Amino acid sequence: MPTELAYQTDPFRWEFDAEIIEKTTLPDGRSGVVLPKTFFYPTGGGQEHDTGTLGDALVTDVLIDDAGTVVHVVDRDIMATTVHAKIDGGRRLAFMQHHSGQHLLSQAIVEALKLDTVSANINIDNPSTIDLETPLDLDVTPAENLANQILYCDLAIKSYFVDQAQIHTVSLRRPPKVSGQIRIVEIDGFDYSACGGTHCARTGMIGIVKVLRTERRAERLRIHFVCGERALKYFQSYQNIVTTVARQFDTGAEGIVQAVEKQKASTISMQKELEELRELKLILQAQQLVAQAENLESIKLITAAFRNRSPQDLRALAGQLQNEPSVVALLASYDGNKLSLVVSSADTHIRANDLIRKILAEIGGRGGGDAKLAQGGGAASEAQFAALFAKTKEYLV
Ligand SMILES: [Zn+2]
Repeated sequence: MPTELAYQTDPFRWEFDAEIIEKTTLPDGRSGVVLPKTFFYPTGGGQEHDTGTLGDALVTDVLIDDAGTVVHVVDRDIMATTVHAKIDGGRRLAFMQHHSGQHLLSQAIVEALKLDTVSANINIDNPSTIDLETPLDLDVTPAENLANQILYCDLAIKSYFVDQAQIHTVSLRRPPKVSGQIRIVEIDGFDYSACGGTHCARTGMIGIVKVLRTERRAERLRIHFVCGERALKYFQSYQNIVTTVARQFDTGAEGIVQAVEKQKASTISMQKELEELRELKLILQAQQLVAQAENLESIKLITAAFRNRSPQDLRALAGQLQNEPSVVALLASYDGNKLSLVVSSADTHIRANDLIRKILAEIGGRGGGDAKLAQGGGAASEAQFAALFAKTKEYLV
């Protein structure tokens, strides 16, 4: 038997006495109760269900079946046949503000941007969304401004039923998805929607309609927006962020953009200077290594073991050493588990790629490159790292 959907005629009744006429167990094991009439909104039409209490039991979900029967899912069995029901009014008001705000914004988009809403989602924990079918990344500010202008007019939001045969007399924004008696929600002369949801009594109650961002989703443009108290919370959190950032820059909110641009320019200049200093450091380090090189007949052998230097850094150092005549350099770094090795050779008789393969074979590592420069690595123990260059001279013969 269909439940009387009393929230449609009195969406502000958030407490009532309820008579339980049926108790059920849902296929997933949850307990449900049926009332002859209810002010609890069941999930549907892009709006989530109400929550609240029936006596001591928490109402965790509200469903409506194809026959129009509303099942209130409760967290415990209810023994009494009559209970006092309470709806979470804060949650309901947030849904009403966002649902009404969606109608208002969708019609404002039709008027300001000539685009229809193809789907909408009413959320309160995250921003609500409206999807438009357009390949363009439009500026929706004109629609946002118009929605709020209409909101300030504090128009009445009313609902009434129209028979399907007469529905053509109503200038609906979108065609109805249901048949028979169709419920119309009208923002006084501005918007007509076929909708079964809960809405504010007047547009002023929506508080504000604020678009947070737009998002491209293939051929659609998704608009994320907030209304009422949620919009206030967003404003407060954004203000908090802005104030904190402004304080860091020792300026006011209006000075942030300039301060960030200045900081960015300064960072770029420092990065450039840092790169020059790094290069200089490598040159000096290379000179130091050459000075300490071991003279072996025709070559100068350099073996250097570092800790926690990146393979790129070793390669850059090897690059400096490549310019030194007769130098064969073996540069290693170890991070406690993994060993990196770079070999450079300025001697035509010693091929860097052959040499690195022989050395890394000791630890089961791998490497490759050409005759002048090779790199590689592998897992190694502290002892293997310490003994890495022990046999180097044998390989050079
Ligand atoms: Zn609606």
